[in-house]
Amino acid sequence: MTFIDTHSHIYLSDFKEDRSEVIANAIKGGVNKILLPNIDSDSIDSMLSLCRDFPENCYPMMGLHPTSVKENVEAELEIVEKLLRDLPFIAIGEIGIDLYWDKTFLHEQEEAFRFQVALAKKYKLPIVVHSRDSFDELFQLLDKLNSPDLHGVFHCFTGTEAQAQKIVNEYGFKLGIGGVLTFKNSGLAEQIKNIGLEHLILETDAPYLAPQPHRGKRNQPAYIPLIAQKLAEVKGVSITEIGDITTQNAKELFNL
Ligand SMILES: [Zn+2]
Repeated sequence: MTFIDTHSHIYLSDFKEDRSEVIANAIKGGVNKILLPNIDSDSIDSMLSLCRDFPENCYPMMGLHPTSVKENVEAELEIVEKLLRDLPFIAIGEIGIDLYWDKTFLHEQEEAFRFQVALAKKYKLPIVVHSRDSFDELFQLLDKLNSPDLHGVFHCFTGTEAQAQKIVNEYGFKLGIGGVLTFKNSGLAEQIKNIGLEHLILETDAPYLAPQPHRGKRNQPAYIPLIAQKLAEVKGVSITEIGDITTQNAKELFNL
């Protein structure tokens, strides 16, 4: 059985003591590839050095996370643009809108999203979208920006079935399914039960959102099979089938 963790921040300091062990455990559990979304200019060095240390397992994305969109957004986006010119990346991410923590920079978040979607089109890369309390704002943007050559994923999807249908049918994007699926009362299983497996990929969002029975603790790529097992139950198929289909979906989306 093989899996891909399509969204993991194991370059963060939460893993500084045992990063190699975390990757070894992931591989032992069949999670051979770990895709790393960037956050901002502070996270780039540790992300890239991890990818140099584990070139067969870790793959970097480049982008500016919406919660890092502040007064210095232009300087941050210049760095993103420069790195995309200089180095290979598998996606633009993570980008999007987050209105949960702070609405002060909504306008700047929207402009940063627009700018980075343009970069995705220029470099023919998929986008990894972070959406928190912001489906309406992102849908408004994507209704204008979407085109047949734009691909992507709504990472850590936790919306409604109607939102899921719009994302997969109108935009042709994937849904990233993570630990929330295993949470009691999250309701996510119900919302995605009519969404075909061809639209789904797996992710941990480590160190956040650990699946049951590790909820509240540090998440890690080795927990992907716990999410896959729950998805297998929701879909009434084997975990092997979940691994095969979601791995294939991720390989296609990220050109691995
Ligand atoms: Zn993330």
